Amino acid sequence: MPHRPFIVGNWKMNGTRAQLAEARAIERGAARHAGVRVGVAPPFTLIAAMAEDGQAIVVGGQDCHAEERGAFTGDVSAVMLKDAGAGFTIVGHSERRAMHGESDAAVKAKAETALAAGLEVIVCVGETEAQRDSGQAEAVVSAQLDGSMPRDESAAGRVTVAYEPVWAIGTGRVPSAADVAAMHAAIRGRLGVIYGEDGAAVRILYGGSVNAGNAAELLAVTDVGGALVGGASLTADSFLSIVSAAGTSEE
Ligand code: PEP
Repeated sequence: MPHRPFIVGNWKMNGTRAQLAEARAIERGAARHAGVRVGVAPPFTLIAAMAEDGQAIVVGGQDCHAEERGAFTGDVSAVMLKDAGAGFTIVGHSERRAMHGESDAAVKAKAETALAAGLEVIVCVGETEAQRDSGQAEAVVSAQLDGSMPRDESAAGRVTVAYEPVWAIGTGRVPSAADVAAMHAAIRGRLGVIYGEDGAAVRILYGGSVNAGNAAELLAVTDVGGALVGGASLTADSFLSIVSAAGTSEE
């Protein structure tokens, strides 16, 4: 693996303050795996508390608005995330794209605003099952990258791509190691077109039904620089098993 692996939990709309005990357990476990970078994106309401508690993990948002401030009821800006203690934000998760109609252009605008606010950004891309079945997976993901990746000068060093096949999210189904390798190679090639030489520095995570049982195999695939983990990140036990697998795959 070319980079220190990055394992990121996406808690989605799960977690009240009662979950802070689990976050502290994740923090303690992460401190034992210095070779792995560990991130958690809790609901916005928990970011400040988790950022105050945790030195061994980086806390992030799950989304942000493309504007810095203004009359956008219910939204959260990148500046607010940064102020609350976040180090990164996810943008373009397939649930945002599907349920909130977010286009590639909207995702790119959010990513650029987040970078300007001093956050790192994780940009999610991935094909649907129908797109994979019809042989369009790589073309779809390439088009998403072209439209969604931020183009700021310093972007490449602070951006991570998460390849998350939509059909693998929350389903218990994962692509074969060969399919993950092929897609990550295609993404790497496209990042070279977008960022030139700097594209080689962009980390590419795999996401979609990663769990304690399959993490080691997925993380061992060429150019898989870590994982974005949904369901299995909600308990310290299962999440730390994945962190531990990342530590092993790195050795
Ligand atoms: C996700 O939604 O980012 C995700 C990877 O979910 P899960 O691990 O539950 O498939």
